[in-house]
Amino acid sequence: MHRFALLSGLILSAAALAGCQSTKHPAPDTMIKTSSIVAPEGSQTTENGGTLPPISHRLAGRTLTIASIHDLRLQDKEVILSFDDGPIPGRTDRVLATLNQFGVKGAFMMVGEMAELHPELARRVAMEGNAIGSHTFRHENLAALTFDVAMKEITRGEAAVTKATGVDVNFFRFPYLADSQKLRSAVAMRDMVVMDVDVDSKDYFNTSPAAITKRTMDLLHKRGRGIILMHDIHNRTATMLPTLLSRLEAEGYKVVTLQFKKPTAPAEMASL
Ligand SMILES: [Zn+2]
Repeated sequence: MHRFALLSGLILSAAALAGCQSTKHPAPDTMIKTSSIVAPEGSQTTENGGTLPPISHRLAGRTLTIASIHDLRLQDKEVILSFDDGPIPGRTDRVLATLNQFGVKGAFMMVGEMAELHPELARRVAMEGNAIGSHTFRHENLAALTFDVAMKEITRGEAAVTKATGVDVNFFRFPYLADSQKLRSAVAMRDMVVMDVDVDSKDYFNTSPAAITKRTMDLLHKRGRGIILMHDIHNRTATMLPTLLSRLEAEGYKVVTLQFKKPTAPAEMASL
């Protein structure tokens, strides 16, 4: 028991340390010391030769295969980690490093012009197994536009994210969550699942990483499950993520991986 408690403490200390500094520059002494005590197969080597804290993968939950929003049903203590507005170098890559460290996947709702600006990073997000969504081309408030202009924003954003990532865009989030039933239906017709929000981390406010973690956990405790909204363009989000994931793991939450499966066409169903 004592040894287990000691090891747990070391793992938590390492995770907390990662939350205080950039994952680009891990403290090699601490990390090597930790990984030499716990199972070596659990540690990861970074590009610059350092090591990240060992991974337990206790946070990784089931893979949810969905064809429409109706399949997006979470069980108690299940969460989806969603990140909007990126990708952007120096932040999105830190978010990716943290997700990899905990062995979980996120859902990235990319702005088209951001994906166009940073195609290598956009592609890396997709290649690492994260769910890919679009968030329009220029982050417009679609509720303030005519239907036709809004649809142009949606299709242009979808095309840009598809081109940058090299994969189909299966999800969509409305900027400012400003939607309409007509636009939601039009998005669904394009084989994109609308990603709503259950827990708003409000990481877009200029608050401390600790305040974001507390707000998110408080909201999650009330709901018990949900889609968490974060933004990978903010430094404070990349900084607080290791702490948030440590909290989620310690409290027994599971991060669901999303997998999109195109709805079966009626003609195909008839032939079955
Ligand atoms: Zn946004």
